[in-house]
Amino acid sequence: MPLGKLLTGSKGDKVLAVGNEALARAAVEAGISYATGYPGTPSTEALETLARFSKTYPIRVEWSINEKVALEKAYGYSLANLSTLVTMKMSGLNVALDALFSISYSGTPGPMVVYVADDPGAHAGMCEQDSRKIASTIPVPVLSPASSREMYLFTKEAFKLSEKYEIPVIVRSTTITAHSREVITLGEIHEQKKAKTPVKDIKRFTKANPLWCQEQHRNLLDKVDQMKRDSERYVHLIEGSEDFGIIVTGAPYRVLLEIIKRNDLNIPVLNVGMPFPAPEKILLEFIKNLKEVIVIEELEPVLESQILEIIHKHDLKIRVHGKTDGTTSHVGEIGFHEVAEILSKRVKLKESYQGIEGHINVPPRKLTFCAGCPHRNTYFILKEAAKRAGLKELICTGDIGCTILAMYKPLEVCWTEVCMGASIGMAYGLSKALDKKIVAAIGDSTIFHAGLPATVDASQYDANILILVLDNNWVAMTGHQPTPETGIDAAGHATKKISLEKILAGVHEVKIIDPYDIEPSIKIMEEALKSKNLKIIISKHECSLMKLRLGKVEKRFKIIEEKCVKCLKCLRETGCPAIRIINGKVMIMEEICTGCSLCAYICPHGAIVECCE
Ligand code: SF4
Ligand code: SF4
Repeated sequence: MPLGKLLTGSKGDKVLAVGNEALARAAVEAGISYATGYPGTPSTEALETLARFSKTYPIRVEWSINEKVALEKAYGYSLANLSTLVTMKMSGLNVALDALFSISYSGTPGPMVVYVADDPGAHAGMCEQDSRKIASTIPVPVLSPASSREMYLFTKEAFKLSEKYEIPVIVRSTTITAHSREVITLGEIHEQKKAKTPVKDIKRFTKANPLWCQEQHRNLLDKVDQMKRDSERYVHLIEGSEDFGIIVTGAPYRVLLEIIKRNDLNIPVLNVGMPFPAPEKILLEFIKNLKEVIVIEELEPVLESQILEIIHKHDLKIRVHGKTDGTTSHVGEIGFHEVAEILSKRVKLKESYQGIEGHINVPPRKLTFCAGCPHRNTYFILKEAAKRAGLKELICTGDIGCTILAMYKPLEVCWTEVCMGASIGMAYGLSKALDKKIVAAIGDSTIFHAGLPATVDASQYDANILILVLDNNWVAMTGHQPTPETGIDAAGHATKKISLEKILAGVHEVKIIDPYDIEPSIKIMEEALKSKNLKIIISKHECSLMKLRLGKVEKRFKIIEEKCVKCLKCLRETGCPAIRIINGKVMIMEEICTGCSLCAYICPHGAIVECCE
């Protein structure tokens, strides 16, 4: 995606940018020296954009093996007085949380901003967790932009706050803010800070002494309390004459503004940009003369709880509507339909917003593997091997990434999906509890991220499981970021290639198969399934999309019309999107076929044959 002026523009230039790009530009302007993270929708483009900046500016940008390691590496830079950014999706925050708690207690000598993108509505799958709530539990401040413009402004502010209070500051966006475009006005790119050797201060930077640890905790609480004053800078007040008011934060603010404008409403509104710690004084001022207040925020009642505390503290008689009385839901996004429904109970709206979010008629699309995806072959091989091994039931724990798509038809192999790396531990537990062979299916980047500790356990206690690593050389689900095996960094520069095979071989015997080589792979898999011991198989073949992009497709297949009896076995059993029925004929779209040969293996009539590349 061309970024043009976002990368090269100077102070005063106006640029159209999505939230993730706006955040990246703001971080560069704030003078960061280091940015790292782990890919995860909807946060991924932030680091990808920074990688583009790193070609011009002296910023080190890299994907890390997981979010915890990313945060710890960034903290090293912060200890050396440098400014850092760490990016992740909401579930990544859980992985990084152990480090984030401790870092927050000790504080950050160099500014540190943690960008977390939440996903209300679970558009990208995974839990709808609210990172603001986690921030308030640590506690660390969290800024919650409602637009690209605020993403840009708040990120710059986050660096200033982190520098002032020496604690990590979270910028929390949601899918819609991360991905929607708005014009931002660029600022100056500030000089980077100079690296300094940290002051050795074990009272501040270690935890084993309970008194020191308590002191660190007290310091953190004091800082966050003081930040309630800073929080007052990130509010926007709209005057109104109604006797009820609305307090809103995050993406729903834009929706609310639009509805108010289009319906000429006269409701007092307070937008809160820093939902934790909330601007206590301003909230009190806003609510004290109202009869009722509606709090609009997605997911958890983070702001609402603080408002209820203020009301309790000042003994006010104001009714609060939000999560506590079911006015807003804990589940899903708050869009036009939801905001209009809340308002229509109190004021007359000129327009109907019923179903407005779904007005674009997008053709339905089945979730399936791409044409020629090596994972399709691997799961087909697994099913075939299970049949030949006489397994009555194939129980397979799935994992995060493209590999989980085998839960759908026609493969229907994966039973579960919990979190990064969980397939192995769960397979272990199931195998011990049921005393039978269980398969754990996990991708290469996922096993690097969080699957290695469970693999060590499985080997130590000889679990009766098959760890099936589907290795396609890329973090494919999030847009083909490199894994440690790929041998390039975020900007495309060469790095050392880390061999997954050698790492796993240090733990247990490993067999390698090529899933495009179907029959020999079935035999190896069958043997593994018959065994009562731990088996590890790496099914290794590059992602078919990358093969297409990089011109690495060696062969393609076609259907000989005269031989085809239209039984549709190839289509039904593979579900390959390259196989279509056109004008009553079964055909292969040769331009997207990557020659996996699965359909040819399946066709009982020898109607599918290789054709030239
Ligand atoms: S060989 Fe068959 S199954 Fe494989 S990509 Fe081509 S059409 Fe699809
Ligand atoms: S499996 Fe073979 S015979 Fe059946 S529809 Fe496909 S190409 Fe035709």
